[in-house]
Amino acid sequence: MTVSSELDVCHESQLLFRRLLANDLTQQDRQRVLLHVKGCSACAAILVAQKRDRSETAAAPQETDSGFLMKLAWVLIITSGVVIAGFFLWDLAAALWTDQSQPVWLRAALAIFYVGFVVLFIVILRQRLMARKTDKFRKVNQ
Ligand SMILES: [Zn+2]
Repeated sequence: MTVSSELDVCHESQLLFRRLLANDLTQQDRQRVLLHVKGCSACAAILVAQKRDRSETAAAPQETDSGFLMKLAWVLIITSGVVIAGFFLWDLAAALWTDQSQPVWLRAALAIFYVGFVVLFIVILRQRLMARKTDKFRKVNQ
């Protein structure tokens, strides 16, 4: 009985190590875990090992942070770029389309070009969305 309840305390403490190292515990939980680690060499060893792992992988969160900012920057650039390019292309298309002095073949080619551009945009968007779904699946599986 005593052995199993001691093991429970160990297990409970070990579950909190990650949050302890992340400074994500209440004062009370923190003291409880530290008190247990002082008196339990097995848990102390595990905590030291986790701390070492954490400092070794400390660069990883920074990478994902800048990765997020990078993605944000790209989204902003692409979104505004699409709006600006769309405006100029639309303006140009409207000018050429309504200009009766242009030959019909040129106006038809222009229309086909724009339809192709829209289809391309939809295909790329669809690929991006599908890639995103796969990424999410990978994260869940890990
Ligand atoms: Zn323990």
